[in-house]
Amino acid sequence: MSIETSGSNTLEQWQGIAQRELSAVQTRFFIDGDYRDAIDGARFESINPANLETIAVVSAANEKDVDVAVAAARKAFRSGVWSGMAPRERMEILYRYTKLIDDNAEQLAVLDTLDMGKPISDMLNGDIPAVISTIQFMAEYIDKIEGTVTNTASDVMHYVLREPIGVVGAISPWNYPLLMAIWKVAPALAAGNTVVLKPAEQAPLSCLRIAELFVEAGGPPGVFNVINGIGEVAGKALALHNDVDKVTFTGSTEVGKLMLQYAGQSNMKRVSLECGGKSPQVFMADTANLERAVSAACDGIYTNMGEVCNAGSRILVEKPLYDEFVERFIAEGKDAYVPGDPLDPQTNLGPLVTAEAQQRVLSFIESGKQEGAQLEFGGDVPEMVGAYINPTLFTNVNNNMRIAREEIFGPVASILPFDGIDEAIAIANDTIYGLAAGVWTSDLNKAHRLIKEIEAGVIWVNSFDEGDMTQPFGGYKQSGNARDKCVESILSYTQSKSAWIRLSE
Ligand code: NAD
Repeated sequence: MSIETSGSNTLEQWQGIAQRELSAVQTRFFIDGDYRDAIDGARFESINPANLETIAVVSAANEKDVDVAVAAARKAFRSGVWSGMAPRERMEILYRYTKLIDDNAEQLAVLDTLDMGKPISDMLNGDIPAVISTIQFMAEYIDKIEGTVTNTASDVMHYVLREPIGVVGAISPWNYPLLMAIWKVAPALAAGNTVVLKPAEQAPLSCLRIAELFVEAGGPPGVFNVINGIGEVAGKALALHNDVDKVTFTGSTEVGKLMLQYAGQSNMKRVSLECGGKSPQVFMADTANLERAVSAACDGIYTNMGEVCNAGSRILVEKPLYDEFVERFIAEGKDAYVPGDPLDPQTNLGPLVTAEAQQRVLSFIESGKQEGAQLEFGGDVPEMVGAYINPTLFTNVNNNMRIAREEIFGPVASILPFDGIDEAIAIANDTIYGLAAGVWTSDLNKAHRLIKEIEAGVIWVNSFDEGDMTQPFGGYKQSGNARDKCVESILSYTQSKSAWIRLSE
C-alpha cells in the first residue's frame, strides 16, 4: 500500500474542510468502542492558536472516568479478544487500520492543524505518512515476536515466553499529536496489550478519531480507548492507577519525573519516558558542504515552529568557520520560515501551540538579550492575530545562558562558538538532556570520536533529523529511559515468562 499522502487543496478548500470537520467533530471520550461523556459532564475548551478562537469543547476526565476507561481496557485484555487472536489476524486488522488512516488523512491532518497550529503541508507530508509507517512496522513484527528455548540438562526443558504486559496507559504531548500517540499505541497494540490513551489537552481531537478508526478496521472494542482531560487530573489518575500495568509517557522532563513518582506511589507499574531535549549540532571547521550544513541548522531549529523534542537548539560552530557560518545562517534563516495561516499549503511556520507558549518563548528571548547574547534577527511577533513568533537567531551565546540551558520549544536558534573538538564535546555534554545531536565534519576520526563521546540517544553525522522505523529514538540522561520506533520499542511492551519443566520425576 502506498503511504504517500499528498494534498493539492487550496487555502479556501482547506478552510472548507476545516469547517466541515469541526461541525461534526467528536468531543467525548472513546471507551469500549463508543463515545461517552464525562460522568460529571465536565468539559474544557480547545483553542485554535492561529486565531485564538475556541474550536471545540471537549469532555474532561476525572478519576472516575479514568476508572471506567481502565476497566474497559482490563476487561478486553482479560477476555483475550486481542492478545489471544492469531497474530496474522491482528496484523490484518492493523494493515486495514493504516488504510483507513490513509483514507481519512485530510480529516486527521486538519484536526491537528486546527488544534495546535502545525502547517497542513507538514501534517500531510510528514506526520500522517509517519503515523502509517509506524503502524505498518509494528504490525509487520507481530508474528516475529519469539520466545526462546534455553540450553539445559536433558531432564529439564526451559523456555521463555514473551507476553504482553496488560493495560498500558499512554500519555502524549501536543507537538505531533497523532504521531507521538501512535509511537506509543502502535507497539503496545502490536504486542497484544490494551490501551488507554490520554492526549495532551492542547490537541485532544485527532486521537479520538484514530481510536474510532481502529474499531472500524476490526479492532475489538475496549482494546484502544481514549480519554481527554487536564494533565494534573486525568493524566495523573491514569499514571497512579493500580490497574494500569505500564505507563508510557512523552512530554516534558518535569512531568516525566512525576511519572516515576506516581508509579512508586501506586503499583510499581513499568514506566517508559520520552522527555525533553537541548540537542547540540556540532559544526567542525572541516565541514565539507556548508550549504547543506547551514540548511540543516535552519531546518533543525525552525521546523514545526521549534516545537520539536530533538530540535537542534544549540548550534556549536568551530571558530575558524564561525563568521562565515553566521553570515550564511542569517542570509538563509531570516526568510526561510515565514509565519502564515497553517491551513495555507504554502505556510511553513504556524503559530505556537498557545498564547501562553508564545509569552513563554518571548520571555526566553528577553533573557537572551539581558544575558548578553547578540540578537541577529526576529525576537518579536508578526502583526497577525494568533500565537505567532518570528524566527529568531542569537549569536555569541555561551552555554551558561538560560537560552542555552533550558528547552525553549520555539523558533529560537542559538549559535555558540567553540575552540577544537574537546571543547565541542564538553559543551555538547554540559546539559541535563541527552536526546539527540548532529555532527558535521569530513574527518572520519573526528566523527567517530564525537559519536562515542557525545551523550545522546541519537547522533546524526553530516545530516540532521533523518531516520526510518528501524532507528531507535530516545534519550540519554534526563531525556528519558525508553526507545520509540524500532524493534526495541515493541519488545518494551512485552514481558518475559520463564517456564522451567522437569521432565523426569
Ligand atoms: P507536558 O509534559 O506538559 O505534557 C505531556 C503530557 O503529560 C500531556 O498529555 C499532559 O496533559 C500530561 N501531563 C501534564 N502534567 C501532568 C501530570 N501532573 N500528571 C500526569 N500527566 C500530566 O509536555 P507537552 O508540553 O505536552 O510537550 C512538550 C514536551 O514534550 C517537551 O519537553 C518535548 O521535548 C517533549 N517531547 C519529547 C519527545 C521525545 O520523544 N523525547 C517527543 C515529543 C515531545
